[in-house]
Amino acid sequence: MRPAFSTKLTHDHAKRVESGLLRRVRTAGDARPGRIVLDGRELIDFGSNDYLGLARHPRLIEALTMAATIGVGARASHLLGGHHDAHEALQRALAEWIGYPRALLFSTGYMAATGALSALLGRHDLCVQDRLNHACLIDGARLAGADLRRFAHADAVDAARLLASRPDQRALLVSDSVFSMDGDVAPLAELAALAQRERAWLMVDEAHGLGVLGPQGRGACAAAGLAAHDVPVWMGTLGKALGGFGAVIAGSEALIDALVNSARSYIYTTALPPALAQAMVVAVGLAREADAERAHLQTLVAHFRIGACELGWKLLPSVTPIQPLIVGTSADAVDLSRQLEAAGFYCPAVRPPTVPKGSARLRISLSAAHTVEDVDALLQALGKRESAGHV
Ligand SMILES: *Cc1c(COP(=O)(O)O)cnc(C)c1O
Repeated sequence: MRPAFSTKLTHDHAKRVESGLLRRVRTAGDARPGRIVLDGRELIDFGSNDYLGLARHPRLIEALTMAATIGVGARASHLLGGHHDAHEALQRALAEWIGYPRALLFSTGYMAATGALSALLGRHDLCVQDRLNHACLIDGARLAGADLRRFAHADAVDAARLLASRPDQRALLVSDSVFSMDGDVAPLAELAALAQRERAWLMVDEAHGLGVLGPQGRGACAAAGLAAHDVPVWMGTLGKALGGFGAVIAGSEALIDALVNSARSYIYTTALPPALAQAMVVAVGLAREADAERAHLQTLVAHFRIGACELGWKLLPSVTPIQPLIVGTSADAVDLSRQLEAAGFYCPAVRPPTVPKGSARLRISLSAAHTVEDVDALLQALGKRESAGHV
């Protein structure tokens, strides 16, 4: 007899419940910057990627409201009449900000990564990736059918070994700049030197670096002193520090032309709403100018790390607003997250398969929308708990 999908779903659900891995979507209400409303209660929000507090910035809200008079939808894909002035202006603003000849908009970071990787790589090409790279980078290489090899986290020597063992394949070296669940920064200068030595191309995903690190918030590559020729495929997203939605790949004329012609997630989809693109031009300006917010954010990071360390928490080597507290089992992580929520803090638990087995954690992320008092309150709540979560 043919097996039924309903049986599979019931079985998979039961397994998730049993291992503490069932996920559910919660609905957030309207809230002030730095806060989240869940089940009608306002909590201090340590779960968002709104690092500069731009998602509810009055000037960004005003920009989107004004732009909305031009209409809502782009009406078509970029290649079939959906590419508006606002998209063009945003691509130019982004390219100019990060110092690249060209930039190309995608609807999401997930689509930018899968589109760029599957357009660039073929079945005979080598794709060498950090073990902790974001899922969209892994999926892009798989979609391309490339020879995907993964190196030990942040280990340029291991990456070198993988590249050296396959000297005859065209090769793309790929890394997150700031790792989304660990918060550490990739050894970007070493990776760039390695790519150069091996005649490989380097692709860096700056989803959590753009707006946060580097001069004018240009990202971790810029902070490491790398320029466009060091990182031929540069990726950024607009849904995190830029407070909006969308993503971008930056590179040479030749790269962008190739993506326009062959990245399927660019070609076969509706362009972003032009009003949103217009608002994101304003977001780029705000992020460029946000040195005060970046300085405040660094103060919060240092304050949190000193405080958490004094309380006996083991911290990962992160200088970014992503400050995970490794708990271990999924059940303990969920338990700690619930205790903090009861005390007024939203610190979501992140469990496998998003993170490796045995490293379930609270992914605490700081934002310029927080005050030092917000962080102090969280530290106090972390200190008051039973010692069960301390590693
Ligand atoms: C969030 C994220 C993405 C995906 O970006 P979206 O625009 O949300 O699809 C890609 N890479 C990394 C490292 C991310 O953290």
